[in-house]
Amino acid sequence: DIDKKYLLDSIRDVKDFPKPGIVFKDITTLLNNKDAYKFLIDHLEQRYKSYDLDYIAGIDSRGFIFGAALADRLGIGFVPIRKVGKLPAATVCEKYELEYGFDQIEIHLDAFPKKDARVLVIDDLIATGGTANAAAKLVKDINANLVEMCFLIHLTFLDGAEKLKEHAPVYSVLEI
Ligand code: 5GP
Repeated sequence: DIDKKYLLDSIRDVKDFPKPGIVFKDITTLLNNKDAYKFLIDHLEQRYKSYDLDYIAGIDSRGFIFGAALADRLGIGFVPIRKVGKLPAATVCEKYELEYGFDQIEIHLDAFPKKDARVLVIDDLIATGGTANAAAKLVKDINANLVEMCFLIHLTFLDGAEKLKEHAPVYSVLEI
């Protein structure tokens, strides 16, 4: 049977990546499993088909894989939120804190041509919530309507979803 337990089991733990002491949730073993990948996109399609969304905004880079597939299913556009320096046209940029130092993500200023666009932000995983918080600000900066933030995996012990509450509801398929 394909269910959430099956989906969870399709994700691999890799110890000491990218640094000693970190257990990385590796989703490549979900992606190369056609049943797991299809179950996930079916599940997201069922949830979001009634949301009247205009765009899916995916976070660099694993948010692209789920976001683009879902956008196609829903028959709507896809928008990439990228690490700094990758987008060619005019952008707005958000800086956010990492464990050591800072990072920046950006979005094209004209990413959502539709007025008052209804947008879902998606990524594979939320840990501290720093990345998603910056993504939420970007979507709001360019006057779109952030409807929800969606993650495949929520690492609940870090409580990253807490800082997103001020922006939009948070949905995660799997809580770990
Ligand atoms: P946060 O900003 O919430 O601390 O980290 C979330 C970001 O880092 C996401 O873009 C996510 O893709 C990436 N990330 C952090 N830890 C993991 C992990 O264990 N597995 C995967 N697949 N991504 C991770």
